[in-house]
Amino acid sequence: MFYCDAHTHLQKIENLPLYMKQAKDVGITQFICNATHEDDWVKVIEISQTYPGVSIALGVHPWFLETLKKGWERRLENILIKHPSFMIGEIGLDKVKAEQNPKMFCLKSQEDILQVQLELASQYKRPFHLHCVRAWDRILYILEKFRKKTIFISHSHYGNADIIPIMDQMGAYFSYSSVLFKRQKEKVQSCLQKTPIHKILVESDASASIEEIPLLIQKISSVRKEEKDFLVKCIQQNFNEFLNGRSI
Ligand SMILES: [Zn+2]
Repeated sequence: MFYCDAHTHLQKIENLPLYMKQAKDVGITQFICNATHEDDWVKVIEISQTYPGVSIALGVHPWFLETLKKGWERRLENILIKHPSFMIGEIGLDKVKAEQNPKMFCLKSQEDILQVQLELASQYKRPFHLHCVRAWDRILYILEKFRKKTIFISHSHYGNADIIPIMDQMGAYFSYSSVLFKRQKEKVQSCLQKTPIHKILVESDASASIEEIPLLIQKISSVRKEEKDFLVKCIQQNFNEFLNGRSI
């Protein structure tokens, strides 16, 4: 049985050779590794060149606004032009961070940075990887302008279940993590029940143990009342369709 990790940050793992060996032993053979800021980009590219099965996304995460150096947009654009398989991520909005520290994580700046990266995703038809914490109203408003320009993953998804059909129409895939499954069980369960089978993905986000991915699929199978083997196959297929899809 093969599994895939739809959202991770392999650059954060301390002993990556050991981690990749453990992943292989569990049957995890494909990953999407997301950068979080510009200093990560080279590292993430190197990882994708070292390990087979690692696809990558480059971008600036809303927690790293402070690291932005002049000209980052052009540098990102140039890399994307050079590498047609690279995606954009991790990008998004985080209202909780903005409330904790409005200066460092100013929501308006977060939106500006997101917007620039969505323009690039739309222009170069690249899938993107979305982080959203309690900013769903703004996210939906912004994404509306990019509707059906490209597909994306709502990573560690735990928005209100009611927005799933809306985001589905916009081109979203929904990736679930075991960390949130434990922390926000009821909300995640109601999202899982509303997620179309052809849009479900699973992830470690580099925070859960890699062995948890098969267990997470087991849990999803009991929530959705679908056979685990069937779900594993569907998730694998979704992952490959996501990687192969450059537009909707
Ligand atoms: Zn992440």
